[in-house]
Amino acid sequence: MSYKITDECISCGACEPECPNEAITEGETIYVIDPAKCTECVGSHAESKCVEVCPVDACVLDPGHSETKEKLLEKWRGLHPGKEPAEGTF
Ligand code: SF4
Ligand code: SF4
Repeated sequence: MSYKITDECISCGACEPECPNEAITEGETIYVIDPAKCTECVGSHAESKCVEVCPVDACVLDPGHSETKEKLLEKWRGLHPGKEPAEGTF
């Protein structure tokens, strides 16, 4: 399941450099997450980095993009060809 950013976002930019998949970009009014790139941090980190750093809890799971761990790992492999996922992240 991808994360999404809610209207609570204050566009502080803290999450953007933390995303291991470059899924976060600055949108017109708030920051946005590309569901095609968000893996819930599966493959890179044990916890979701955007959730960790957001000061206003604007990063939440998006029920509209439900995926299994296996699907998320497959997505991660597609984004990081030739690399192996980090231990304990999937
Ligand atoms: S959960 Fe991880 S992969 Fe998804 S947008 Fe947040 S930092 Fe990026
Ligand atoms: S860390 Fe939170 S408030 Fe800051 S840009 Fe990201 S979603 Fe918005």
